[in-house]
Amino acid sequence: MGLVVQKFGGSSVATANRVMAAARKAVRARQKGNHVLVVVSARGDTTDDLIELAHEITEDPPAREMDMLLATGEQISIALMAMAIQTLGEKSISFTGAQVGIVTDSSHTRARIRSISAGRMRQALDAGQIVIVAGFQGIDEDGNITTLGRGGSDTTAVALAACMKQTSPPEPVECEIYTDVDGIYTTDPRIVPEARKMDAISYDEMLELASVGAGVMHSRSIEFAKKFDVPLMVRSSFSDSEGTWIVPEQEWMRGQPVCGAAIVRDEARISVENVPDVPGVSHRLFTAMAGRGIVVDMIAQNPGSDGQASIGFTVPASDLRRTLELLEPIARELGAMVEHDGQVSKVSVVGSGMRHHTGVAEKMFEALAREKINLRMITTGDIKISVLVDKLDGVRALRVVHQAFELGTKLASNTTVDRDSQPMTPMAMADLTHRLAHMEDILVSEVITQLNEGRIAVYGLPDAPGHCSSIFQAVAKAGIVVDMIVQNLARGLADLSFSVPLADLERARLVTNAVVQGISATTLVDSDPSLAAVHVVGVGMRTHTGVASRVFGALAEIKINILMINTSEMRISVVVDRDRVEEAATTLRRAFGLV
Ligand code: ASP
Ligand code: MG
Repeated sequence: MGLVVQKFGGSSVATANRVMAAARKAVRARQKGNHVLVVVSARGDTTDDLIELAHEITEDPPAREMDMLLATGEQISIALMAMAIQTLGEKSISFTGAQVGIVTDSSHTRARIRSISAGRMRQALDAGQIVIVAGFQGIDEDGNITTLGRGGSDTTAVALAACMKQTSPPEPVECEIYTDVDGIYTTDPRIVPEARKMDAISYDEMLELASVGAGVMHSRSIEFAKKFDVPLMVRSSFSDSEGTWIVPEQEWMRGQPVCGAAIVRDEARISVENVPDVPGVSHRLFTAMAGRGIVVDMIAQNPGSDGQASIGFTVPASDLRRTLELLEPIARELGAMVEHDGQVSKVSVVGSGMRHHTGVAEKMFEALAREKINLRMITTGDIKISVLVDKLDGVRALRVVHQAFELGTKLASNTTVDRDSQPMTPMAMADLTHRLAHMEDILVSEVITQLNEGRIAVYGLPDAPGHCSSIFQAVAKAGIVVDMIVQNLARGLADLSFSVPLADLERARLVTNAVVQGISATTLVDSDPSLAAVHVVGVGMRTHTGVASRVFGALAEIKINILMINTSEMRISVVVDRDRVEEAATTLRRAFGLV
């Protein structure tokens, strides 16, 4: 016996029959002896239709009234759901967000949750009622209705589950997300038919996959689940089959270097070239973009040469125009040039096993090289590798990668999911209460320095398929483990840098040099033992725009030059001079309130 939170998406309550089917699932969970809390979205395309309706009245609907309008969609669903459950003979009561005290800030249409009052829900649950709550909505401190942003019902469901964990008597809490797919797949089965449904995936893997285009769930809700340790299951509302668990990392997941692959088809690549290699430049560029709400995706910066550096990054293709207009004047002032390419796709592989396995990047690059697919940009995170390819090659690249890691074949080993919530100690409870009070804040958990690595930089590689693959194969053959990889295009050539253990640096340089000699006489290989990395690790690094610019800003203030940048869903990494790395870490800890 525990609390089951069930969330039904728009398609799961689109018709009266579907509402009844959803109601039956809630009733069944109740009859198994659970407390049941149901969160529903607006039916079918209601939210889209309401937005359209508003635009028939005015091109620029005021945000407050928009929220008033959109919140009605969910209100219809909760009432119907409560009626449906009652016709099945169970007790049920529906509540709007305001009625259960989901208090948000006042940023209409994209509000963040400040607090939730569990009391009224707890009372109704204890009275044996199935409680139905409207997703996606809340109320601000002045009593205005707010909404949480598109797809926000997932966030409501997980937030309610988290909040109910602190009510007494404590009971295990689980959250089921009912939707029109039956789970999380190794990649999009519409593109790659061999894609396989996973039994389970870790929060971190799901966050990284969601960030690279594997839809299904809202990143923000997965962040919540991770922060508050809520086990989630994504499953189909049209069947009874088990879906995919999203849970803390399990032992067996570490045996699997890659769990999934994904594609973002419409990206644009921008490269700001020949910027002065001095402190504050990245800060200036990224602050300007954050200020306009432009979400930067991949960022690749290599150590500069001759006092100049190039910074490459991607933005959604639809933001390309706006970004160029913004950056061109800044670049002119800096004496830099802006290059761009609007026809690129990003293909990524994700897996927590990458922390424990080597050679993942090498295998990916080799598979792509064999298909003669050119890599325009490369970035690596803790558990993710992303490459940027020509849009025409995108789908093929995804297939090739999916096959190279045999993602269509199930891991033979034991894949059980341990999700037993331990009874909470008083200390854990106090900690939970504290964290719930800052529910949606960025949670930078640590700032780590990494001192024992050196960097190899390769400048001016011809921009053709296969070169990276040859380099990493040779390095792997020499038994050298590669960590962070960054490749960027500048002046029509590829600059590549990667980190290796300091003890292997000289050997890595020789091996790389030997490969490069065979490619082009004008390519330079350099090694630098005097650099070190700082990793800022946490949850919400990307859903909170501006975290990267806060990192760059803090370092610019103490005039530390950033030599390499790498970002992922859970980590922003910068490489700086080793002499100043401790100072950089201290400054960043202070900037994020860790000291
Ligand atoms: N109805 C809202 C939307 O369509 C919220 C949700 O579906 O999660 O965005
Ligand atoms: Mg919806």
